[in-house]
Amino acid sequence: MTPAPRVRFAPSPTGSLHVGGARTALYNWLFARRHGGTFILRIEDTDVDRNKPELVDQILEAMTWLGLTWDEGPYRQSERYDLYREAAARLLAEGKAYRAFETPGELEAARKAADAAGETFRYSGAGRQIPPAESDRRAAAGEPFVIRLKMPDEPIVVDDIVQGRAEFPAGSLDDFVLMRSDGHPLYHFSVCVDDVAMAITHVVRGVDHLPNTPKHVALFRALGAEAPKFAHLGMILGADGKKLSKRHGAAGAEEFRAQGLLPEALVNFLALLGWSPGEDRERMTMDEMAALFSLERIGPSPSRFDHEKLAWLNGQYLQDVPEPRLLELLRPFGLPAGCPEETLLGALPLQKPRAKTLVELAKALAIYGEDPVDYEPAGLKKFGKAANAPLLKTFAERISALPAFTHAAMEEAARALATEAAVKLGDLAQPVRLALTGTLASPPLFEMIEVLGLETTRRRILALAAKIESEPAPS
Ligand code: GLU
Repeated sequence: MTPAPRVRFAPSPTGSLHVGGARTALYNWLFARRHGGTFILRIEDTDVDRNKPELVDQILEAMTWLGLTWDEGPYRQSERYDLYREAAARLLAEGKAYRAFETPGELEAARKAADAAGETFRYSGAGRQIPPAESDRRAAAGEPFVIRLKMPDEPIVVDDIVQGRAEFPAGSLDDFVLMRSDGHPLYHFSVCVDDVAMAITHVVRGVDHLPNTPKHVALFRALGAEAPKFAHLGMILGADGKKLSKRHGAAGAEEFRAQGLLPEALVNFLALLGWSPGEDRERMTMDEMAALFSLERIGPSPSRFDHEKLAWLNGQYLQDVPEPRLLELLRPFGLPAGCPEETLLGALPLQKPRAKTLVELAKALAIYGEDPVDYEPAGLKKFGKAANAPLLKTFAERISALPAFTHAAMEEAARALATEAAVKLGDLAQPVRLALTGTLASPPLFEMIEVLGLETTRRRILALAAKIESEPAPS
């Protein structure tokens, strides 16, 4: 029996949790859930120059919002320096790594010379020749040094679950630095030491890390550990096939949240950026996705981030949120002040089919709390003729006299009035709509009136009637 997988999401707090990072986290989470494994969160914060510590909380919050709860961690690499130093000392003692004493100036000169010759810079490997006793003596005397890995003189094969097999010939990589002269571990080193310490079985991350992978494989070997399995996820591009940017609607998770997207829609959308469960299935809950997820069904090619599709999917999800919960979700986006909750609960079924985001929905609810302050000019032009004022007033009277204030009764009254006035139903309904919402677009009118209530409806209709009496649109 294969042991349950242990996977990790390892963000560097140099930016917020963006689309690519969120997808990586999600795929790790789904994979762990699928196989009853462990999802570990590890903050890679050793790059003191680029870290923004305040982003750690933001990343944790975004993950929690997305439902990507972790089973272990968050570990912080900045609290694990001892581990990296011990591992480096061990590799030195075992002769798998060595000290290199070149000064930054010397390395820079070598780099420039390589550039001038049109070659890629590679470290010469000079430090390998220093006998261990001399290396110890120079270190003890305080001479600055870095620690480099002795790259093995054999090809390295990376058998990636998503990207396929790649072979890196012997000698294609130089002896890279594990520890800087100030005792700071470099990225490749801390990643591998931690992956070993945390018994990571599968590394699922962005394809931008694929070129690093042969280095990691060499390091796992040097550390005496079996390399985990790798799955490198294809790039995410904009809908136009260009590099993903803000222009494409890509953003940090907290911005998606501010745009009024639901976490369940966002994770569903992100899951489909590279993975497909087959059978053209699109809408899935996290549990459904976890039940179907497999690394083998992730495609190697780049996927496209289509914000329109995300908004559409979000709209679909919105329809299924029960009204009381929806109201809670809408609160941070601003609900109309002083509007009874009952009215809003009544308005939601009418408004939500027309909204894709919480922001849109919150905006649409405003009309249930406040009378329109102005009217759409095209609406006034068409329906603001003087002759419409008596029609509006009569309609207000008729609905006031109804024995039951139901949408069916109102519709019947409207039809009867339109027939009497020899106008089409739309010629009555449209000015009423304009009176109630200030626009010519609204959900089913009579249902809306039922929610607004007689008093509000009358007040708004009479206000428009008064307006067009005093300043009618030219006929
Ligand atoms: N810390 C790296 C990053 O944020 C991830 C490293 C890894 O997954 O191996 O890109």
